[in-house]
Amino acid sequence: MKDNLLSSKRPPIYKDVVIIGNGPSGLAMSYLLSGHVPVYNGNSHPDPILDTLLRSNLRPGLPVTQADLLTLAQCLEGRNGATPVGLLVDAMVRPGTDAGLTAAPLLTWNTTRPSLSHVVIGRDRPGGTWQKIDGKTLTLSSSSWMELPGLPFHKSDAGRLADVTEDGVRVTASTVGDYYSEYVQKMGLLRYQKRGIVTGVSEHDDSDEDNDRKVHWVVEGHDHRGRKFVYHSKYIVLACGTNDSPNRLGIPGEDLDWVKHNTRDLDAYLKSLRSTVEDGPVLIVGSGLSSCDGVMTAQCHGASVLHLYRGHGGLAKWLPLTSYPEYHKVHTLMTGKATDRNYAGSSDLRLVGIDSNSKTAILEDGKGGQHCQRVTAVAILVGASADLSFLPRWDLGFDGGPANSKSNPLDVNLSTYELNRLPNAYAIGPLAGDTFVRHVLGGVIAASSHILETPTT
Ligand SMILES: Cc1cc2nc3c(=O)[nH]c(=O)nc-3n(C[C@H](O)[C@H](O)[C@H](O)COP(=O)(O)OP(=O)(O)OC[C@H]3O[C@@H](n4cnc5c(N)ncnc54)[C@H](O)[C@@H]3O)c2cc1C
Repeated sequence: MKDNLLSSKRPPIYKDVVIIGNGPSGLAMSYLLSGHVPVYNGNSHPDPILDTLLRSNLRPGLPVTQADLLTLAQCLEGRNGATPVGLLVDAMVRPGTDAGLTAAPLLTWNTTRPSLSHVVIGRDRPGGTWQKIDGKTLTLSSSSWMELPGLPFHKSDAGRLADVTEDGVRVTASTVGDYYSEYVQKMGLLRYQKRGIVTGVSEHDDSDEDNDRKVHWVVEGHDHRGRKFVYHSKYIVLACGTNDSPNRLGIPGEDLDWVKHNTRDLDAYLKSLRSTVEDGPVLIVGSGLSSCDGVMTAQCHGASVLHLYRGHGGLAKWLPLTSYPEYHKVHTLMTGKATDRNYAGSSDLRLVGIDSNSKTAILEDGKGGQHCQRVTAVAILVGASADLSFLPRWDLGFDGGPANSKSNPLDVNLSTYELNRLPNAYAIGPLAGDTFVRHVLGGVIAASSHILETPTT
C-alpha cells in the first residue's frame, strides 16, 4: 500500500510514443522506432507488373517510404483480412511466397537513424496473443510468415529447437511465443518494454515541462505488481490486437468456473479434474477454428464431446482443409463424413442456459423444445474482440460504431494508419484490418514513418 502511494506520486514520464500492446505489431513498431530503416534494395520481384512499378518509383538504397506506398499497392489484388500497404510490404518481404517461391526480399534494414523515445506496454511476456494461445496449438501460417524484421525464424534459438527450416513449417504457439521473447532480447528492444496494463488514455494539449515537447496524451495504468504509472506522450500507437475480450452468448450461468471461453483455460480445467469419471461430455459451442481447437483439446483429455455449431461450411471457406489435417478431421466429423463414438455434433441445438447446481446445460432445438444435458465442462468458443475501454472515445470503428476486427476495424487513414477520428493516435495489426502477422509490417512502416517525419517539439 505504502509502495502504491509513493509510486502514485511519481511524476509522469515523457515518451514521444507510447505503444499499447506487445504482440508482433508492437514489437515490430519498437524495432522501427529504435532506428531501423526499411530500404529498397533493387532485387527483382517475380511479378513483372509489380517489379516495373517498384523500379520506376523507388531508388535502390533509399527508404521504401520515399514513395507513396498506398498508390504502389493499388496494383495488388485486394484480399480480405489485409490492408493494401500490408499486402504490398508482405509482397516485398516474401516475394512470390504464395506461389511457393523463395525469392530474395526487396527490403533491407539499415540502422542509420537515431532511436525515438518510446515504451511498449503489454500485459504479458513479449508476444501478445502468442503467450495466451494454448501452447500446443499449431500455427495456420508457416513459421517464416510469423517472423519479424531482422531475425529469421529458422535462425532463432526457438526455431532451431523446433527444427524449423528456411522454407518454413507450421510450429506450435509456444515456439512462436518463445521466438517473440527472444526477438526482444536479440534486437536490443528489452529497454523499451514495460509489463503492465493501460487502464486509461486521455487527450491533453500541453507541453512537457522538462522536455518542452508537445503532450497530446496522458496514458495511465499499473504494472504487474499493481504499481501505478503515468506517461505523457505525443503519440499513442494501438497495437492491442483483437483477442482480449472473448465473445459471450449472454446466457445464464456463463460465468461459472467450469464454463470457459478459450482453449487454454479449458485445457487447464480438464487437467485439473482429479476424477476420470465424467459428468457428461465436454460441451463445445462454436463453428470456427477455435471451436475445433476446443474439440481437439477435449479429445486429448480422453473426454467425449458434444459440439454445437451454426452450419459447418465456414471452416472450408477459411482454409484449404487438406493442408490442415487436424481441422480437416474435425470438419469431417461436423459434416458427418466421418464418425467417432466420442463425438456428437449438432447444428440444430442451441445452448440457452447453464444450471450451476447440477452441472447441466440447457439446450433448445429448432422447434423451441428444451433439453437438459449433464456436462463435464462447457467451452464457448465464438470469437473474440478488442478491449478498447481505456480509450476516450468508443465510436472509432470504420462504420462509426464500436470497433470489431472482422466487420468494423478501426477507421484509419490507409496511408498513415492514423485514426481518422483521433489525431495523433495510430492503429496497427488486426485493429487496423491486418489479421495475420505477415501483413502487420506495412502498417508499422507507414505509421512509424508518419510519426518520424513530424517534428517532435
Ligand atoms: C487461435 C489463434 C490462432 C492464430 N493463428 C495465426 C496464424 O497461424 N498466423 C497468423 O499470422 N496469425 C494468427 N493469428 C492471429 C494473430 O494472433 C495476430 O495476427 C497477431 O497476434 C496480431 O498481433 P498484434 O501484436 O497486433 O496483437 P496481439 O498479438 O493480440 O497482441 C496484443 C497484446 O496487447 C495486449 N493488450 C491489449 N490491451 C492492453 C492494455 N490495455 N494494456 C496492456 N496490454 C494490452 C494484449 O493482451 C495482447 O497481449 C491467430 C490468432 C488466434 C487467436
